[in-house]
Amino acid sequence: MQALRASIMHCLADPGEASRQSAYEYFEDGLLLIDAGHVVAAGDATQLMSELPADTPVLDYSGKLVVPGFIDCHVHFPQLDIIGSYGAQLLDWLNQYAFPAEAKFRDPDHAREVATVFVDELLANGTTTALVFGTVHAHSADAIFEAADARGMRLIAGKVLMDSNCPEELRDDAETGYSQSKALIERWHGKGRLGYAITPRFALTSSREQLAAAGRLATEYPDVWVHTHLAENIEEIEEIARLFPESRSYLDVYEQHNLLRERSVFAHCLHMDERDRGSMASKGGAAAFCPTSNLFLGSGLFDLRAIREAGVRCGLGTDVGGGTSLSLLKTASEAYKVLHLQEQALPATRALYLATLGAAEALYLDDKIGNFEKGKEADFVVLDFEGSNLTARRTAAATTIEEKLFALITLADDRNVAATYVNGEAIR
Ligand SMILES: [Zn+2]
Repeated sequence: MQALRASIMHCLADPGEASRQSAYEYFEDGLLLIDAGHVVAAGDATQLMSELPADTPVLDYSGKLVVPGFIDCHVHFPQLDIIGSYGAQLLDWLNQYAFPAEAKFRDPDHAREVATVFVDELLANGTTTALVFGTVHAHSADAIFEAADARGMRLIAGKVLMDSNCPEELRDDAETGYSQSKALIERWHGKGRLGYAITPRFALTSSREQLAAAGRLATEYPDVWVHTHLAENIEEIEEIARLFPESRSYLDVYEQHNLLRERSVFAHCLHMDERDRGSMASKGGAAAFCPTSNLFLGSGLFDLRAIREAGVRCGLGTDVGGGTSLSLLKTASEAYKVLHLQEQALPATRALYLATLGAAEALYLDDKIGNFEKGKEADFVVLDFEGSNLTARRTAAATTIEEKLFALITLADDRNVAATYVNGEAIR
């Protein structure tokens, strides 16, 4: 048994736009008890200390804030080196920047090198779980799984399926995409804390045959994830309508190919109607809200209120390299601005929810991670209000924890992450 003394905050449910107090817990002088990598209790330090065996080691993080590990619901590890690429919207951006970067992953050594840097950057930003795109190369999935496994991280990833409307060297076909994905599922899914995601890039780069094969795989393996993009960009959506005239909507293309189900995660979901949101909610699919990417690529504004009122599961995604940061604190800050433009509120407590428990719900992992309920895996972040001079000044002037956390979200970067714990062990 080990104990950490710090301020502790976690969500029990979605606090909503009104920051409902029963949806989260905050212990100013708190104690987190961990045993064998799992949470034993989180609560008031004075009370819990009195019940502890006298020789229990207590690590003192007084003045810092411990929150559950952040969960990134959508990110591309092969695009790490093209963050901040200038001047294009989605389809041009893919051709000019993303595809050339992904073509370099033909070299397995390059894939391994980037995967290692990528997972260490996640941990430096307090992210302990992520849903990750590879490239079309099967060894890209091996590389990211090996890097996550070496650090004990709970991570989901997959090889991209892509057989049309892309460079020749980045193509698989319906059959090889199916068989390679199947082999990767057998090799990695359920190994340690790893999970596999069937990963068609988006309907524009997969033929009907490939989408059907992906849907077959999704039916054969109901407990693997499906991870793709949906309704990001207007030009993209027009192309989808032209290519799939038999489908009512973009989401309908996936639904018709058995790719909308529980554990299906759709990045962006910007331009959808009520009927799509209803289908997504009733089939158990989830939306990844990627504000830095949506702003950077000029794609549009995510309507969180409509998504949540429809009952759709939702978490934050960084979407690097279209996104501009691997920090879910920075991502939450941009989410606030995207919602503010639409006259919607994002209090700090709901931002925390979207980066932790909400994301765990989106990934159907809320029985394992996302908050400090007894028995959950002990993945957490120690946030340091004094990580920079400005965050120290601003948070010192705050009078409530909600104000303090909001200021931190607005100003924070990886200097404000004092430590990241995976399975109860400090890994950074
Ligand atoms: Zn993406």
